[in-house]
Amino acid sequence: MYLCPMLDYLVVGLGLAGISFCEQLEENGKTFHVISDDSQTSSSVAGGLYNPVVLKRFTLAWRANEQLELAMPFYRKLEKKLDITLDYKLSVARRFNSIEEQNLWFEAMDKPFLGDFLSSDIHSNTNPNVDASHGFGTVLKTGRIDTENLLSTYSAYLAEMKRLTGERFDHRILQITNESISYKSIKARYLVFAEGFGLKKNPYFNYLPLNGNKGEYVIIEAPELNEEKAIKSSIFCIPLGKNQYKIGANYNRNSTSNKPSKNTRKELLQKMEQFIRCDYKVIGQVAGVRPTVIDRRPLVGRHPEYCNLYVLNGFGSRGVLIAPYASLELYRFIEEQKPLPGEIDIERFSKKYAKNQL
Ligand SMILES: Cc1cc2nc3c(=O)[nH]c(=O)nc-3n(C[C@H](O)[C@H](O)[C@H](O)COP(=O)(O)OP(=O)(O)OC[C@H]3O[C@@H](n4cnc5c(N)ncnc54)[C@H](O)[C@@H]3O)c2cc1C
Repeated sequence: MYLCPMLDYLVVGLGLAGISFCEQLEENGKTFHVISDDSQTSSSVAGGLYNPVVLKRFTLAWRANEQLELAMPFYRKLEKKLDITLDYKLSVARRFNSIEEQNLWFEAMDKPFLGDFLSSDIHSNTNPNVDASHGFGTVLKTGRIDTENLLSTYSAYLAEMKRLTGERFDHRILQITNESISYKSIKARYLVFAEGFGLKKNPYFNYLPLNGNKGEYVIIEAPELNEEKAIKSSIFCIPLGKNQYKIGANYNRNSTSNKPSKNTRKELLQKMEQFIRCDYKVIGQVAGVRPTVIDRRPLVGRHPEYCNLYVLNGFGSRGVLIAPYASLELYRFIEEQKPLPGEIDIERFSKKYAKNQL
């Protein structure tokens, strides 16, 4: 069989994880090829919000400051390179249900680092089609990345350079030696798996405790709503432009399907009608499985046995902010031997691997 010249990397999976890692490779002049299919949809259906605050608990998201600093120039650079708009600046407004919730907001402002991200006053509602009698608190430094556009444009970009094969990766025919991996006609020094929830079917890394969490959005058209901020109540209402809004998402640990369901659509619309009061038309519904981990930290690192196999996964519900950070850490780990932060290193699950081998 004819083998192409040895590449530096083969990457499996082109969601937010795969794209961010490819960007590291391009920036550093590495040669690579990507194999990806459409079995997982998490990155393409995501709300795309970046928001450093966990609005349920009024706490700062894990390493949010650091991630935000890396993510903003990362998406700006991609916008330039692909000549598209990805970053839509919009406020995220937490709708208060009660005076108690308003008080929690003020308490949160005194927590370390959180004050930088929370508006110091409460804004009253001015939109007649929104019900929010207790007003809103605004999160600062937030926005929406158009992940759907990013995925389709980036795929086309790689395809044009003949760096993308759109097919399912078959783990059974992978060959591994100490120096390289071979897959069909591709030979590379390293293989990085960025398969999202597809990791469950990867025999090399499926010992890792990845739990899927299905999420769905209903997309509506509401010409009278005229809302520019993303409103967070029990669910989000995210403006997409052209009178369209994403409504959701829900969290369902019991399903691993990417198919939208009628029941969820009903549930989301009922929740929406508690705070949106105008006519609307449903124009779409999307679903995907978030790659969530037991300890809510990414899964990054080297296979315990095969030193040229790596994993980049476990971004949960915050892929937009985590992806640039985790891919930089992985790149430095492989190329510069910089140790991974313990919280994200899959070493923390080495006992699970050992148990699996018994
Ligand atoms: C409903 C919903 C809303 C969300 N909203 C937000 C949000 O507002 N903000 C935010 O930051 N995050 C959000 N997230 C989370 C975010 O989308 C994820 O963290 C992120 O998309 C994970 O990216 P990934 O690249 O790891 O996985 P994926 O996006 O799943 O990409 C993996 C890719 O690998 C491919 N693949 C898998 N197995 C194989 C194989 N064997 N062969 C070939 N290809 C394979 C898949 O088909 C897919 O293309 C949301 C997620 C969902 C589901």
